[in-house]
Amino acid sequence: TEAVAEPTIEARERHAELARELEEHQYRYYVLQSPSVDDSVYDRQMRELEALEEQFPALVTPDSPSQRVGGTFSTDFAAVTHRERMLSLDNALDEAELDAWVERVTRDAGSPPRYLCELKIDGLAVNLTYEKGRLTRAATRGDGRTGEDITLNARTIREIPEVLRGDEVPDLLEVRGEVFFTLEGFQEVNAAQVAAGERPFANPRNAASGSLRQKDPHITAGRPMRMLVHGFGAREGFNPVSQSEAYELMHAWGLPTSQRWRVFDDVAGVRQYIAEYGERRHKLEHEIDGVVVKIDQMSIQRRLGSTSKDPRWAIAFKYPPEEAMTKLIDVQVNV
Ligand code: NAD
Repeated sequence: TEAVAEPTIEARERHAELARELEEHQYRYYVLQSPSVDDSVYDRQMRELEALEEQFPALVTPDSPSQRVGGTFSTDFAAVTHRERMLSLDNALDEAELDAWVERVTRDAGSPPRYLCELKIDGLAVNLTYEKGRLTRAATRGDGRTGEDITLNARTIREIPEVLRGDEVPDLLEVRGEVFFTLEGFQEVNAAQVAAGERPFANPRNAASGSLRQKDPHITAGRPMRMLVHGFGAREGFNPVSQSEAYELMHAWGLPTSQRWRVFDDVAGVRQYIAEYGERRHKLEHEIDGVVVKIDQMSIQRRLGSTSKDPRWAIAFKYPPEEAMTKLIDVQVNV
């Protein structure tokens, strides 16, 4: 076996410095809702931290920013423990990182994977619990284990069904999705903020987070929020063989699934999808910050499992910040 290198003093110092900065960014982003740096800066610093930890595993501690799902709670809400953890997503910041992920999953999958592509909407992750087809609880992601009880607020979103349609609904289902504003809704809510003498929201994600996490659900009710489903957690009586089958079933039960997901047999299709939405992203009704690629087959998802923070069977391809947007993915685009 290879000897594991002890971290050098320089590595320790740089790691501590990065960890401190990332924690500060997380605090400003999740708690104050007022980030001080661009996401791309944050993502690069996180990469540097992860690279140091890979080189020197002794630097990995449970409280490292690389090991935790970011998020927080306000004491305005009751705490809710999710039946199954809500994870974050690993990122691919360029095509080479996407290729590296594809190589890894193909090697470990055991059988040829199919890729489900969907849009990454920048909003707030929620967990809806349905028991015997009835909505019994809605919660924010929080730190992934425990979130905030926002049931009354979620009930004001028209797209979230109180009761699932049909006779064959599961006994238990945790539905995961994103609550967000369309660009039009965002303009509307900010115009209302300004008219009321309040500060406008910095971006649609902040607006969603601020609007859903209101003490008074009447305020939430006046905000035109949408929701789209992008996964599920704990379940009883629901055994889909694939992510796509799960979406089809959830759609049939009346849950708001997207029309834009696609399944591909190979990575060429994935690249095409990413390139296509790279071109179309500013013509959509809502903001996106990337494309999420997931392995479609549940058997492979189970086999690949998760790290402490992310599922290994999914990756978020993030579009580069606008000014750096060059021809990153070189394929013919037909829009
Ligand atoms: P994330 O937003 O990168 O990805 C995970 C989340 O994506 C999920 O929880 C889910 O809510 C959402 N999502 C949207 N569409 C989805 C889909 N189709 N399938 C699955 N999930 C989907 O991760 P995060 O942990 O919420 O936040 C980390 C990111 O936040 C960082 O990469 C960075 O970009 C940003 N951030 C920025 C700062 C800053 O200071 N600028 C600080 C902290 C975090």
